[in-house]
Formats: sequence, structure tokens, C-alpha cells
Amino acid sequence: MNEAAERNDFIREVIREDLAAGRHESVITRFPPEPNGFLHIGHAMSICLNFGVPEEFGGHCALRFDDTNPTREEQIYIDAIQDDVRWLGFAWAGEVRYASDYFEQLYAWAERLIEAGHAYVDDLSAEEIRDYRGTMTEPGRPSPWRDRPAAESLDLFRRMRAGEFAEGARVLRAKIDMASGNFNLRDPVLYRILNSPHPRTGDAWHIYPTYDYAHGQSDAIEGVTHSLCTLEFADHRPLYDWLIENLPVPATPRQYEFAPLNLTYTVLSKRRLIQLVREGHVAGWDDPRLPTLRGLRRRGLPPEAVRDFISRVAITKNVGTIEVQMLEACIRDALNPVAPRRMAVLRPLKVVIENYPEGEIEWLEAANLPNDPAAGTRKVPFGREIWVERDDFMEDAPRKFFRLSPGREVRLRFAYFVTCTEVVKDAAGEVVELRCTYDPETRGGDAPDGRKVRGTIHWVEASHGVTGEARLYDHLFAVPEPGAGGELMDDLNPDSLEVLQHCRLEPSLVDVANGERVQFERLGYFTRDSDGTAERPVFNRTVGLRDAWARVKAKG
Ligand code: ATP
Ligand code: MG
Repeated sequence: MNEAAERNDFIREVIREDLAAGRHESVITRFPPEPNGFLHIGHAMSICLNFGVPEEFGGHCALRFDDTNPTREEQIYIDAIQDDVRWLGFAWAGEVRYASDYFEQLYAWAERLIEAGHAYVDDLSAEEIRDYRGTMTEPGRPSPWRDRPAAESLDLFRRMRAGEFAEGARVLRAKIDMASGNFNLRDPVLYRILNSPHPRTGDAWHIYPTYDYAHGQSDAIEGVTHSLCTLEFADHRPLYDWLIENLPVPATPRQYEFAPLNLTYTVLSKRRLIQLVREGHVAGWDDPRLPTLRGLRRRGLPPEAVRDFISRVAITKNVGTIEVQMLEACIRDALNPVAPRRMAVLRPLKVVIENYPEGEIEWLEAANLPNDPAAGTRKVPFGREIWVERDDFMEDAPRKFFRLSPGREVRLRFAYFVTCTEVVKDAAGEVVELRCTYDPETRGGDAPDGRKVRGTIHWVEASHGVTGEARLYDHLFAVPEPGAGGELMDDLNPDSLEVLQHCRLEPSLVDVANGERVQFERLGYFTRDSDGTAERPVFNRTVGLRDAWARVKAKG
């Protein structure tokens, strides 16, 4: 038995029981996105569960678009969602399915419901229907059209289909129980008139099934055994079951609800994500600060990190919130063993090594992965003028500052020991250059006399280094629960993006392909962004090396 097969949660328990009792021979699931936005990491949870369960127990998962509302759905989302599911590493069974594939069958079944006295055409307006529906404490009132003869409903329903009526003029409703404690059973709407063209069926239909009507029946048509969805559908389950019982469907799927993923510092709701994009708070759907799969991908997350993260989130019935730092730890875990180390200086300060021969360049051997000799080495140029990180110098440094400071010796990674001898300032007193000497005996990073230095810093040689841009991303929201205290947009983190235009990169970094990931030594994991050019690369910070945020918070 592999590790995955030992996973446990209430859904897997149900499945084990069903298989043991012989209720099903295999597990058939579906991932049912509505193509009205891009997928986010919450959807990844649903994807990993729906695709994972049949992988573990035998069976398959279909990809089915819930395309029942043409006013909100678009082909670009249909394409992007397929691409995102594949990127996560899953393959759906057979062709992509669409609820619209079943429109004809769903329509035929709706006529059956009317004939059986289980549905009627209602002429009330949407507002009147709401009004008649009652409240939590008061039962609803029957529509005056509730008991119209089935033949009349049937005739009207056919004419709705033919496009004879205006939008909102009539709906088809199930006839269940206007006094039910569950609003979903107070004669729910099954069909409404919409005169929008549909991305797949074009102008063929003037009426469209509601989610509630289309979903369970599509499950049944596909032979879905376990219809897995998030908790907000729990109250819809009695309706799901009522429809399955009252229609001649070929199978009896069951719906199970699990708590959705919530993440700190993050909003996961298509509506909110659309708002962030439309109002220009982010640069687009693939902005690396967004929790969309497109955004996470552009930020440099490998799909394994997403899957690993999701596998650590418990499937339960209790709503909770996961710390976003857990996702960040999964990203580091995925990248640490594989992301080649490179040197980049983000905020450069010039260093001149006075005793190093002018005009000379030597090519030093640098390991790609410190603990993995198989990953090989690369050559890094070294010379008299180099760049170091501004933060790696301090003029009046405390005792424990093991980096550059007048009179102190540090190791330049893969190169030599250097000692800072002079600080050059401009008229404003700003440090513009350091003068150093190096010890030629320490080539490769060790002193033959056994003398130790405490600090090692990274650097980039000045004449061969390439100028590039680094985009440092931080949490899009400044508070763990965005919007909890009032207006969501008031909680935006004003420092969620810092762009550094004058970074110096070791020459091999121009060879990194777009989307490839590296570790900038001592700084974090970065991925090359498609925005750059061949000569002037742009790198996105995927995640820092340690959890800088938690440290800042602890201090603050
Ligand atoms: P949102 O709630 O973000 O607007 P949605 O639920 O409207 O998204 P759908 O396209 O209907 O988006 O979702 C497809 C599937 O993904 C559904 O089965 C839904 O339950 C599931 N899903 C959506 N959000 C989450 C989440 N945060 N965690 C787990 N599953 C989710
Ligand atoms: Mg939803």
C-alpha cells in the first residue's frame, strides 16, 4: 500500500465503506468549475481531492464545466481552467464534459417533472418570488400559479424554450414544500429565461437550467458515485436528493460536503479576485500576488508545492483557516533540493579590491547545489571591481555584524577573504564605494593558516555582471483576515510589491528560461518572468529563504 492509500478523512472513510459493502465497484468523481473566472488555490483543494480519490481507490474523475449561466461564462476561462488542471498534474477521464452537453436530456426530464405534477411554470417576477418565499421564521406562501394544470405549464414551458417570452417573465419551479425549514425546498427555480448567447450552444436555448437542477442530474448521467463539494452546498443536498429520487436518472450519486480552504492574508473568492483585478489593485489575473493558479505559477511555484500543501490540509467538516506560511514552507521544501544556486545583488554597492590586478578576470568554480555534487558547477567571473549588497555593509557595526565593516574580514562566496580598508562617500555623506584588500592565499574560501572568518557574503563581478530587475512580492493584504474589520480594500498591503531596477546578476542568469526557478544565494527563490528581455532579465521572488514576515511580526 502506498502512502497516499493510507490517507484518511471522512470522505475516504465513506468511500472505503461503500467499496467494502459493494455499493460501488469503483469511485467516479468530477471537478465541476463554473467558467466565470480563473481557478484559485481553493479550487486546487477540490481538484486534488476529486482527482486524488479515484487514483487511490480505483476509478476516474471527469472535468465538467458547469456552464449554465451564459451571462457570466466565457471561453477564455474554459481554456485556462483546463490548462491549470493539467499544470497541477492531473488528467481527466475522457473528453471534457459540459453541463450544456446534457441540456436536451435535462429539458426532457423537466417536462417529466411537469407531467408528474412535480414542477410548474410560475409567472411571478423574481422579486415576487423572493417575497412569497417567506423568512426563517415564517413559511412561504404558494404562488397563485402553483396549481395551474400540468398541460398549461407544459405549454408555457415549451414556449419559454421557443423564446416567446421576455427574460424574467416566467420560470419553471419544482413543487416541493413552501413551508419547509430549508429554503432550497421552497419550490426552487429549475429554469429561467436568459437571452444571452452561450459559448457552446450559441442561440439554441432561451432557457437555462439552474445549478441545482443541472448539477445532480449531470452527476447521474456521468455515473458519478461521490459528488464532492464545499460546505455551502450542504443545504442544497435535500434538493439534490429530491431531484434524483423524482427523475428517471440512470444512477444515484451522493453528495458530500467538506470545509473549503481559507488562507490567512488571502482572499479566495472569484468575486473578490475579479474586483481586485478590475479595480487595478493587481496587474491582472496572473499577478504573482494573487492566489490564482495563474498568479502562483507566475510567481514561480512548482505544481508539486501546491499539491504538497494541499495534502497537508485536512479534509473536514469544520471551517478553519490555514496559515499562509504553511504554503510558503511547502514552496521552500519543493525548491530547496532542486533550484540551482546563483548569485545576484539586488541593492548594489561597488567594491574595489585595491591589491587585485587591474584588468584581470579569473573564472571561479561554483557549486550549483551545495549538497548535491551531481548537480555540477558553473564558472563565475571574479575581478578587481565587484558589487555587494548594500545591507552587507555597515560603517558602525555592532560586534555581531559578521559582514563588511571597516577593518573586518569576510569571505566572498566561492572566492577570497577580503578586508574593508576605506569607505568612500559622496558630498551628501552617502556611502558610494568600498575599498578593500584581498588575501590571494584564500582562493576558494579557506585560509591556509587556518584563520577563520564568521561571515560569507555574495557578490557579482562588475564588468561581466548583467543588469536586471527583481520584483519582490509580499502578501497582498497586510492583515491575516482581510476584510474582517470592514472594507476589504482598506486592508491591502501598500508594500506588497517592491521593484528593484538595478540589480546585478551573475552572467549565467541570462541563460535561465522563463518560468525556471533558481535560488539567489542568501536572498530567496526567484523565477524568471516573461516581462524581461534577453539582455535585461526580470526575476520574480517566489519566496524568501526564511520567514521574514513572521520575524517582523514578532518584533512589531
Ligand atoms: P468561489 O467560491 O471562489 O467564487 P466557486 O465555488 O464559485 O468559487 P466553482 O467554479 O463553482 O467556483 O468551484 C468549483 C469547485 O471548487 C466547487 O466544487 C467548489 O466547491 C470548489 N471550491 C471552490 N472554492 C473552494 C475552496 N476555497 N476550497 C475548496 N474547494 C473549493
Ligand atoms: Mg462557490
